Amino acid sequence: MNRRRNNNKYIFLAAAIVGAGILLAAVYIVILYSVGAIEIGGKSKLAEVVVPEPAPETSQSSDTPQEYEPTAPPEKAPSESVDPASDAPSTAPSAEKPAQSRGIIVIDPGHGKSSSAMSETEKINDGWIYNAQKGGWGEWRHWKSNTMWNDCNGSGCSGRAPQNGGCWYPIGAGDRDTEPQINLNNALAAKLYLEGMGYEVRMTRSSNNTNPSMTQRLKYCYPNLDTTQPPDADAFVCLHSNAGGGRGSYYIALSGLYDQAGISPDYITSGNALGQSINSRIVSETQLSAAGSNGRYDGYPTLVLFCKSPITIAYMEIGFFDNASDLAVLNSSSDAIGKAIAEGINDYMVSSGKAK
Ligand SMILES: [Zn+2]
Repeated sequence: MNRRRNNNKYIFLAAAIVGAGILLAAVYIVILYSVGAIEIGGKSKLAEVVVPEPAPETSQSSDTPQEYEPTAPPEKAPSESVDPASDAPSTAPSAEKPAQSRGIIVIDPGHGKSSSAMSETEKINDGWIYNAQKGGWGEWRHWKSNTMWNDCNGSGCSGRAPQNGGCWYPIGAGDRDTEPQINLNNALAAKLYLEGMGYEVRMTRSSNNTNPSMTQRLKYCYPNLDTTQPPDADAFVCLHSNAGGGRGSYYIALSGLYDQAGISPDYITSGNALGQSINSRIVSETQLSAAGSNGRYDGYPTLVLFCKSPITIAYMEIGFFDNASDLAVLNSSSDAIGKAIAEGINDYMVSSGKAK
């Protein structure tokens, strides 16, 4: 009996709970309805609240045009950079495919790092030779006559040397303070313009942290610095700035005897024509005047590079950096100077028929 009574009790309780549940559910439905969560004819207030959800769709559709933009700018960017520097794009291909370049030009900004700051390893890597008899590090001025890449070692050469110099060029003779950076600025500017014109350019140094010997720099006349191959460069252009009193620009003229093996019969005339072409452009396109004899200077026909180069060579002395007025131009106009150098080289390449 007790059990049955208890059972009835439980049934009643369960019914009460279910009833309460139904009542709660009803109340909940009414609340939802009043809030608008339950659809009335397809739309509800909540649906309006949910409206933000379509927003993502809107932003998706606005993504679509954005997808075009990312592809568009990359197309624009290169073509835009082409305009100011139409050189840039044609530079890379021409540099990678020398066969298609208009010619190969070696640009030599002269001495770099001071020899006193170089370690022995640096001197060796930059092509300098240690010779106790000659008092230390340096290089030979000549090849043995009628040879190439066979240092004279003090004999068997023409013996040509400036003033009272011998066959030995001591490393310290090239040390400069101000000049390395000026030369480098002009050289880097010239390189950009030359590449824009379609030339392949090889730099004998691209920073002031190296100081290659002149003999070492001439290796750039050859494919991959391989001096057992025939030289493949068309011209070697030395870019220097002058000191010692004076102002203006000139090229140092070649003259007399050069007897390195393999040089062209027009080694002297082609080098002087190249120097004259470059200097004419510098004088006409910058604030620097012509020094020497209408831009030609005959004082140093025995330069090491003249005596050892395997190809047409020009040696420029661009402005006097110890002249305040020239220095101001050198410090402010390296771009214009570089452009003039490049155009002068191109003038020579075209007029000599060497430009491809
Ligand atoms: Zn010699």
